[in-house]
Order: sequence, then C-alpha cells, then structure tokens
Amino acid sequence: MSLQIQGVIIECVRGNIADQPDMEAIVNAANAELRTGGGVAGAIHRAAGPELEQECRALAPIRPGQAVISGGHRLPNRHVIHCLGPVYGVDQPSAALLASCYRNALQLAEQQGLASLAFPSISTGVFGYPMAEAAGVAFTTILGELARLKSVRRIRFVLFGEADLDLHQKALQQAAGRA
Ligand code: ADP
Repeated sequence: MSLQIQGVIIECVRGNIADQPDMEAIVNAANAELRTGGGVAGAIHRAAGPELEQECRALAPIRPGQAVISGGHRLPNRHVIHCLGPVYGVDQPSAALLASCYRNALQLAEQQGLASLAFPSISTGVFGYPMAEAAGVAFTTILGELARLKSVRRIRFVLFGEADLDLHQKALQQAAGRA
C-alpha cells in the first residue's frame, strides 16, 4: 500500500529491513551502544558486516530519541540511520521520544540529500511499545514533517508480519485522514 502526500510517497510493505536494496538509507532500531543484537539491529549488522560496528564505536553511546548516521558498508544502502527508541514506560515521555526518533532520522536524511529511506517499527520489539500506539506516533510525526522535506521523496515502512503490516496501513490511512 502507498499514499502520495505533499509530493512524498509513504508506503507500507511486508519484509526485512535489511533487504531493501532500492532505498538510499535504512533506519536501525538501535541500542544505545550501536552494537549488534537481536531483532532489527541484529539483521542490519549481520548484513552490513563487522565494519558497521567498527564505524559505530565512535558514534556511541546515543540517548533515547537521538539519531546518528553511518555508512551502509556491505548493505545495498548508502547509509544506515541509527535511532534509539524509548523503552516503553521507562524512558519518558515515551511518545515524545519516539517522535524525536522519526524527526531526527528525517532531518539526517535531508542533511545528506537522500531521496528515500526505510523505517522499521521502532521500539515495538524488545522495547515493548504497543504497536498501534507507536504507529500512530510514527505517522503523525512524519506527516507533520512533510512540508519541511526537500530531498526525501519516498518513505517506506517495513513490517515483519502480516498483522503488523495491516495495523500500519490502517494507522497511515487514519493519520492521513483517509480512514
Ligand atoms: P526495539 O528494541 O526498538 O523494540 P526490535 O528490533 O526489538 O527494536 O524490534 C522492532 C520491530 O521490528 C518489532 O516490531 C519487530 O517485530 C520488528 N523486526 C524485527 N526484525 C526485523 C527485520 N529484520 N525487519 C523488519 N522488522 C523487524
């Protein structure tokens, strides 16, 4: 599913964030130390190779809501944007910190003049953010940033499961006022 709003395509697909060869950047649901791990970070570091962790050493640690950018190394993408999402109910206020992740990631993409980036559903794995709530924050934040975007023309959400995809499609339509 995809919508075009203010000249930007926003799409939701089912798949693996580490396998999005047509995107200039992918976003990592990182840990503070920017190390490999489970979930999204594990998939991205495995595909990027040990050079990614090496480059990330100089960029870590990062705080909840923060984003930093690295090269893509063995990934097909030019860049990885690493966001530290809030641990739900622990890093407060969780919604504002999650919104910062999306805003800061878009800002870094703009600074690099990137046209496309793909997000996973930040914080909804081991960090425990309820996915429907997180998707609402994600799309409201992104739609609020569209007017400021000059280079970014395609934003993709990559979801692991069919139910996760369905939920994100509904949240996007709702945020866009097309429910
Ligand atoms: P966090 O620590 O921010 O919660 P996780 O990596 O644990 O991040 O999970 C974030 C979301 O990404 C979860 O909904 C999880 O199901 C999903 N996910 C895990 N691996 C992948 C992957 N390879 N591609 C896309 N989504 C993934």
